[in-house]
Amino acid sequence: VNRPVRQTTRDLRRHNRSALLSRLYLQGPTSRQDLIGVSGLSSATVSNVVSDLLADGLVREAGLVDSDGGRPRTLVQVRGDVGYVAGVDIGETHVQIGLFDFTLDEVATAEFPLDTAQPEAELIADLVIRGVKDVAAQVGVDPADLLGVGVGVPGAVVDGLVYAPTLAWSGAPLGDLVRAQLSAPLQFDNCARTLGQAEVWRGAGQGARRAIVALLGVGVGAALVTESDSLSGVTSMTSEWGHMVVNIGGRPCRCGSRGCLEAYVGAEAILDDYLRLPDAAPFVATDTEGRLAELIAAAVEPGPAAQTLDSVAEVLGIGIAGLINLLNPDRVVLSGWVGLTLGPAVLPAVRDVAQRHALPYLVGNTRIVVGQLGPEAVALGAATMPVVRLLMAGGVRER
Ligand SMILES: [Zn+2]
Repeated sequence: VNRPVRQTTRDLRRHNRSALLSRLYLQGPTSRQDLIGVSGLSSATVSNVVSDLLADGLVREAGLVDSDGGRPRTLVQVRGDVGYVAGVDIGETHVQIGLFDFTLDEVATAEFPLDTAQPEAELIADLVIRGVKDVAAQVGVDPADLLGVGVGVPGAVVDGLVYAPTLAWSGAPLGDLVRAQLSAPLQFDNCARTLGQAEVWRGAGQGARRAIVALLGVGVGAALVTESDSLSGVTSMTSEWGHMVVNIGGRPCRCGSRGCLEAYVGAEAILDDYLRLPDAAPFVATDTEGRLAELIAAAVEPGPAAQTLDSVAEVLGIGIAGLINLLNPDRVVLSGWVGLTLGPAVLPAVRDVAQRHALPYLVGNTRIVVGQLGPEAVALGAATMPVVRLLMAGGVRER
């Protein structure tokens, strides 16, 4: 027999605070009257909770707005100066740390290049700790006073351990290593998911009901971000979209399988593809990013570069068609540094291929777009983790 869960007045109060604070956070300046409409709470409750949030310094009054014929209404908005959150992007070529105010305006950054493709977890933990201390020092706060630190990792986090094939990590205790030297609340998640959260809150996913954010780099991942009344938005999935097989018995992939999407549309795969063509001119740049930029510039003329992008668009379109058939998104956002660089050049072809390979009644509802946030989006996305946590707690900090 299930015993009824006793909801205390305190739980209810916290729930109402969380609901209204989250609304205000995502919606921007809103009047009390509009909060009553969207929250379904009584006018007395809204009025009490908003007074509490004002008294606790979480929101402030932000001017007046006309109401139809009635008295002007006072707007309320979330304060940026509630505290700072840090977001960490553990990328393929760098560790980047951003410090943001509570409304996610960036106030400081630090970046450390990685000169090894397979860094030890100890090295990454050191860079995370140094970076967070560095950005906190830039604005003069004690790292222990941060609202929280979110870390985006290129892999999966299971029971606090990180599994990241691109870094050759299989169960790295990154959380424990960082926690040993940093007392701010820490959260870890897959970087495609955190990037997805950023694109939906601030970028090309805004307003989508079910957005898939594809993270294209040397590795390839994707996240499904669904609209949610509560907030946290990010649900499941597919960080390992790159290892969906698109060609049976095809090219070997670094995961050990063959014919994976990543073996065709990952940055290095694209460059190798081009260099295999008989008329390919050698690259001038020595780094992957520079080479990809050269390839895209050369593709405006017919020739091996254009041919390479055509086949990338074909495979990418097929991969996206698979996501559409499986998950029925209303938006697909191409992101990650390769997605952002390559996206504008291949978008029409990718849309065309996806159209031909996905079921018409599904693809008809899907817009495929290029991400709007720059390469810092992963750090921004990681910083949404502590923000979500504080919103869910009704703005009450854990100590
Ligand atoms: Zn693979």
